[in-house]
Amino acid sequence: MYLQIADVQHLDGIHLDYIRFPDVILAKGLWKKYNLVMDKEYPQFDYCYCDKCVGDFKAKTGIDIKAVEEPSEVEE
Ligand SMILES: [Zn+2]
Repeated sequence: MYLQIADVQHLDGIHLDYIRFPDVILAKGLWKKYNLVMDKEYPQFDYCYCDKCVGDFKAKTGIDIKAVEEPSEVEE
């Protein structure tokens, strides 16, 4: 898709908003905006837990992250 967009004549750049590294705890000013409570690290806000990512993580580390009680404490 990026290559298709890059072919657009006179296009100088592409700005990707909200593309970032995992952000376990967002800035407090955004909690109300997104109706979030981020008083500690919650797994759904650190890394992707889709089947592919969980499978790739297990293949690389041997750890089934969905079976771990506190995923945020797993250093890997
Ligand atoms: Zn994923």
